[in-house]
Amino acid sequence: MSNYNWCHGPNCHTKETQSRVRGSGDNKVLRTIKIKQGRYNWNNNNSITYDDYFCGNHCLFDFIRLHLTSIIAIAPRREAQETPIKIEKEKYESTRYEYDSYSDRPQRVPYQATRTTIKSVDNDNG
Ligand SMILES: [Zn+2]
Repeated sequence: MSNYNWCHGPNCHTKETQSRVRGSGDNKVLRTIKIKQGRYNWNNNNSITYDDYFCGNHCLFDFIRLHLTSIIAIAPRREAQETPIKIEKEKYESTRYEYDSYSDRPQRVPYQATRTTIKSVDNDNG
């Protein structure tokens, strides 16, 4: 059995596309898009995604704009979060282009470069 949702975009039923036209004769309407659940579930893992509730990003962002205050209220962030890391610096041989006095074309010149890498710190979840 397939389950369907109506697109939750607040303005979905006002967008002028052929896919929204319903009715006959003089009784035509633009109707909210009906979405088959799992339509983009390529992983077949039954996880629910926003694609199951919004026909497209425009409707998703219309919904977010309209309900932003309520959405933020679900999980307000009152403090910054932090992730422990280590910074590793290593030197390595690289090249860059430089102009010299012998040629009007840039020449590859070796130089010692520094690479900075952010490493995660082993903690409970590795
Ligand atoms: Zn929509």
